[in-house]
Amino acid sequence: MDLQSRNDTIREHGKATRERRSGMLCRVYSVKAVHSKMNGEQKEFVNALFREAKWFRNAYLADPSAVNDKTKSVSVKVGDRFEVRELTVLGSHIRQSVIGEVKENIRDLARSQKKGSKVGPLRFKSVCNCVNLKQPNVTYRMRTDQSSIRVQGCRKPFKVRGLEQIPDGAETANCRMVRKASGLYFHITCYVPKEEKVVPHRSVGIDFGIGDNLVFSDGSEPVNICVPESKGTKLASRRMNKAYSRNGNRKSRNHDKRKNKLRKAYEKDSNRRKDLANKTVHEILANYDLIAIQDEMIHNWHSGLFGRQVQHSAMGVIKAELKNSSSVHVVERGFPSTQICPVCGGLTKHPLKERTYTCRHCGYHHPSRDVKAAQSILDEAIRKYRLSGTESEESCGGQTLCGREDTIVSAVRSLPVKQEARSFMSG
Ligand SMILES: [Zn+2]
Repeated sequence: MDLQSRNDTIREHGKATRERRSGMLCRVYSVKAVHSKMNGEQKEFVNALFREAKWFRNAYLADPSAVNDKTKSVSVKVGDRFEVRELTVLGSHIRQSVIGEVKENIRDLARSQKKGSKVGPLRFKSVCNCVNLKQPNVTYRMRTDQSSIRVQGCRKPFKVRGLEQIPDGAETANCRMVRKASGLYFHITCYVPKEEKVVPHRSVGIDFGIGDNLVFSDGSEPVNICVPESKGTKLASRRMNKAYSRNGNRKSRNHDKRKNKLRKAYEKDSNRRKDLANKTVHEILANYDLIAIQDEMIHNWHSGLFGRQVQHSAMGVIKAELKNSSSVHVVERGFPSTQICPVCGGLTKHPLKERTYTCRHCGYHHPSRDVKAAQSILDEAIRKYRLSGTESEESCGGQTLCGREDTIVSAVRSLPVKQEARSFMSG
């Protein structure tokens, strides 16, 4: 087979795969390698893999013309000198994906520079904790019946826990091998057939806040997610600080141990937060088919008066996850959801301690300002989608609404919007 026809076959296969997967759901399943079942050879293999991936990435970044996916040895900076190191376990597939990743990073930087943000150069890495095993059955192979994953270049397969999450009939794509403080993980990307979900025809606006994290416009119970630092995290961080004031920046084996303990504690806290966030998002998406939120900069709240409270809540994660859904519509940041009156449209400023809403133009009163804000967000979202079918992309979280117009209009009709609010919207 000559090169031309081979390339054509590859291209056609790729096209067919993309078409097939466009009708499927993309899911990522995480499984954890069982540390006690790893032998010395495997541990050394994992360390070598991440080490060589780091060397290769840095070498490619230093001189892209000298390094390609067939390179067998790279020069590594040791102190002030350079030494040549052999790549023993890094396969060509992984090298290709390392190169791809660097290129993608550079493209991302260029994109954000175009948007006007300040960007620096891509930096060298001192540690690499993630490699991409991109081809199933070549760079990695799953054995569900033996709960193991074989990685190219390592003789013994890794025993893992959690493979039973992957449904039958799922099509596996790439797998990322990730080293965390708590152990080694495989994040396996799968394509699973879409299942038809029955979501009730209801709509809701959600207001993010500091007192009550999530307030719903239909007056249902506000959701509060606060996972403060656990006792273990506090202890680990105190020990770390104490040792730091005693020893300064001196590196030692005990320093590494303490650092690892702290990393593990943080990981545990963030896992608990993520778990709660996932459950909340699932609950919301299963109960409403039209959801409106405001594009608030929750990240900026971290530095505010209630920064710690915001950091321990999972609002950022929830917002990011909601934005990915096609039934969520985002109202832009500048919309005065707290001030606007749903009856006359006038603006009234309320200090933070004032928990009710009273319009100073028409006297409209609502017992809860947060619920009123959530309703205003919902009204604004509905108004926008009714007035213009071709929405600008950033205002609705990057989704175009053209395909959803019918469903939105029918949802709007079935909405229990107040009569005054309706006349305000159309007027
Ligand atoms: Zn008013």
